[in-house]
Amino acid sequence: MSSKRLDTISDYSRHGFTLRVDCRVCRRLAIIDPRTITLLCQQRQWSKQIAAVEGRLRCSKCGSRDVRVGPGFKS
Ligand SMILES: [Zn+2]
Repeated sequence: MSSKRLDTISDYSRHGFTLRVDCRVCRRLAIIDPRTITLLCQQRQWSKQIAAVEGRLRCSKCGSRDVRVGPGFKS
C-alpha cells in the first residue's frame, strides 16, 4: 500500500485527478484537465513538476500569480 504521489502533472492524469487551481486573491476556483497542461508542457518543454506548474499559472479572473494547485476529482 503506497500513497499516491502527485509530484508531476503526469501523476495527476495517471491517477485520474483533475487539476484544481485556487486563487488566493479573488478566490476563483478553476478545474483544469491535467492533459491540457501536460500537452502545453511538452510543446514548450516546460517542467512537469507541480511546483513549476504552479509558478507558471495565473488566475484567469484577476491575473494574480498567487494561486494554489491541488488535486480535484472527476465527477
Ligand atoms: Zn484571482
